[in-house]
Amino acid sequence: MKVFIACLGTETNTFVPFPTGRRNFEENGVFHGDVTKRTPNLFSAPMHVWRRRAEERGWTVVESLFAFAQPAGVTVRSVYEGYRDEILADLKKALPVDIVLLSMHGAMVADGYDDCEGDLIGQVRAIAGPKAIIGGELDLHCHLTTAMITQANALVTFKEYPHIDTAERAEELFTVCADAAEGKTQPVMAVYDCRMVGMYRTPVEPMKSFVNRMKALEGKDGILSVSLGHGFPWGDVAEVGTQSLVIADGDAGKAQALARQLGEELFAMRDTTLVKYWEAADAVATADRATAGKPVVLADVADNAGGGSPSDSTFVLEALLARGFKGALIGLVWDPVAFQIAEEAGEGATLDMRIGGKCGPISGRPVDLRVTVKKLAHDCQQSFGPTKNSTGDLAWLQADGIDIVVNTKRTQIFHPDAFAPLGLDPTRYRLIVVKSTQHFYAGFAPLASEVLYVTTRGGIEPDFANIRHTKRTIPYWPRVADPFTGQNA
Ligand SMILES: [Zn+2]
Repeated sequence: MKVFIACLGTETNTFVPFPTGRRNFEENGVFHGDVTKRTPNLFSAPMHVWRRRAEERGWTVVESLFAFAQPAGVTVRSVYEGYRDEILADLKKALPVDIVLLSMHGAMVADGYDDCEGDLIGQVRAIAGPKAIIGGELDLHCHLTTAMITQANALVTFKEYPHIDTAERAEELFTVCADAAEGKTQPVMAVYDCRMVGMYRTPVEPMKSFVNRMKALEGKDGILSVSLGHGFPWGDVAEVGTQSLVIADGDAGKAQALARQLGEELFAMRDTTLVKYWEAADAVATADRATAGKPVVLADVADNAGGGSPSDSTFVLEALLARGFKGALIGLVWDPVAFQIAEEAGEGATLDMRIGGKCGPISGRPVDLRVTVKKLAHDCQQSFGPTKNSTGDLAWLQADGIDIVVNTKRTQIFHPDAFAPLGLDPTRYRLIVVKSTQHFYAGFAPLASEVLYVTTRGGIEPDFANIRHTKRTIPYWPRVADPFTGQNA
């Protein structure tokens, strides 16, 4: 057997103004056939798993491109086409292949391509031929499109948000595809459109039990894999939204029935999946009154780089300054210019500095502060599950009782160890502000007395009813109270 593996992806927020270009990919490392010789990160981890599993069986592995970009706006057309064509050229050289395994995001949009993954899978199919088994692992924040479903043999999405299970899902996809290639099974996929646009946090109920039920259904009664494509709400594409996905062994009716059952189950509990969002000033006031002796963690969800936002908005910083809050830590604020000035001034220097607010109205206004450069650190990393992920260079700036960590590589914060290179101990603060929607949760919740989700005017509109979708024609909740009958409450 010959297995061909590659990764190409990003999560495209079509509502933010700055494009995803080659540099966004290169910052995460672009590798041409050797990413499995490096330390695994979130989206290369599957390729490591697939290589190991194939080599354990004595199969041949052909490794192609790894290219994954930090989310931003629509991908530059030539950048997408260049990476795609590199994978296709490698595939042609590798023919014949039995299995193609692709690590993708599932919500990548490029100029001229609303469905990059559907395009990629379709072109892979055309080259690999009808008998090749094509499998894809997707972030659960994907658009499960008709083009993807009809041209792949098996798609598996992460089950957990935060995404702590990328390696497990890679194992799952490998098993499904290897069994199919060996003729043991005949995977057939079915999806059910839940007619919902939302975010579903899986460490908490009711989603926790829902994920457990999904897992319990797998591996028996002819069900090979169960996924829930949560969808990525900030992609203006026709097939945006939440879909359940089931892979059954040879029985399309069974797959369809279970996808529908799970989709209806999720729809029935839609109201319980909603998160309470705070106004920044209210959340800061609540944190100021807290007496638990442990930090309050405030999630600045609208400025999550992982969802395509700039990670330099100042709305929460302004709320802290307005209240005169003392004992807060904010990170990571993407501001390479501030870092450069801090580095030039040197550790211990006190100077006036303009922070954040660089990417338009979604960033808010830049904030002018007199800061002390407490410490600098270079080439830093943070943990996400078992993987290590670059945060670039860091500067710890202190002003008016607030510690601000600016960095040079736009990324959301995943874990408290992001602050370690600066010698900062997050547990000593009264309040920690994280620019992240949910991935921070696994790392920060254990040290928090309370987690507050805050809404600001950033690049990620948290009220799903207000996102300005123009391409989806089928009604969805919560814009419509009951999208199946079309009735509004
Ligand atoms: Zn995701």
